[in-house]
Amino acid sequence: MDKMLKWIPQLRRKKGSYSLTIGWLYPDLMGTYGDRGNVLVLQKRCIWRNIRTEIVPITQETKASKLANLDLIFGGGAQDREQELVEKDLNRNKASAIRSLIERGAPALFVCGATQLMGMYYEPSEGKKIEGLGIFKIKTIHADANKKRLIGNIAVEVLHPEDIKGERVIGFENHGGRTFLEDGGLPFARVISGFGNNGEDATEGVIFNNAIGTYLHGPLLPKNPKIADNLIKKALELKYQKPISLEPLDDTLANLAKDAIVKRLKLN
Ligand code: GLN
Repeated sequence: MDKMLKWIPQLRRKKGSYSLTIGWLYPDLMGTYGDRGNVLVLQKRCIWRNIRTEIVPITQETKASKLANLDLIFGGGAQDREQELVEKDLNRNKASAIRSLIERGAPALFVCGATQLMGMYYEPSEGKKIEGLGIFKIKTIHADANKKRLIGNIAVEVLHPEDIKGERVIGFENHGGRTFLEDGGLPFARVISGFGNNGEDATEGVIFNNAIGTYLHGPLLPKNPKIADNLIKKALELKYQKPISLEPLDDTLANLAKDAIVKRLKLN
């Protein structure tokens, strides 16, 4: 195969000098809302730049030691039942490994149910309170099963981190939990259209260090490539301890998809 490839220059893989290891939390349990698309986008946007990637699925069977070398972490959304299963494994086995990664500045993207589990606690509408990892200063309460779920297209304007402040981001939300920032927790964004954290205070998501927690499914990254590149850039800078500027990519299709939702939300 390699012999054949060497005569087809456009297929020949230049061995890039950079690599990233991306940890994907519980893809078997926290993949209800199609958030796997975010992992595909991170991987593709690396491969297109000759950045070698390894995707490491983190399941209940994965030993915590496997998390030590992760450069970037992703966690998707889930229903209450799966969140309870995941929380047991997190708090028994993996909490300190994830906390130390985030505390040393590893970038992370947590969506919806994963965000709730990285907070202080999540009180589902049925069953017991789920203790979170306390990385995000948020608490989430799912008032009661009959209370309307917060569902629909959503547009937000990034407030933190500073380097993407002002970026307009679109997605789709679907959650029963209402999230409230606590003890100076910083919001990821402010809501332009949609519900956001709780449908009351116009905040969306939360950040801590280089970790972003958001309610935006979609999946988020295919239509918001700037967020993807922000995570990749930060992961490379932390790993190689030097400033990194990513080669620009043609995001015409991504922007067309984003504009279609902006138009549907009449935000022009
Ligand atoms: N089960 C949680 C809720 O309903 C999270 C849902 C999700 O991940 N989309 O709030």
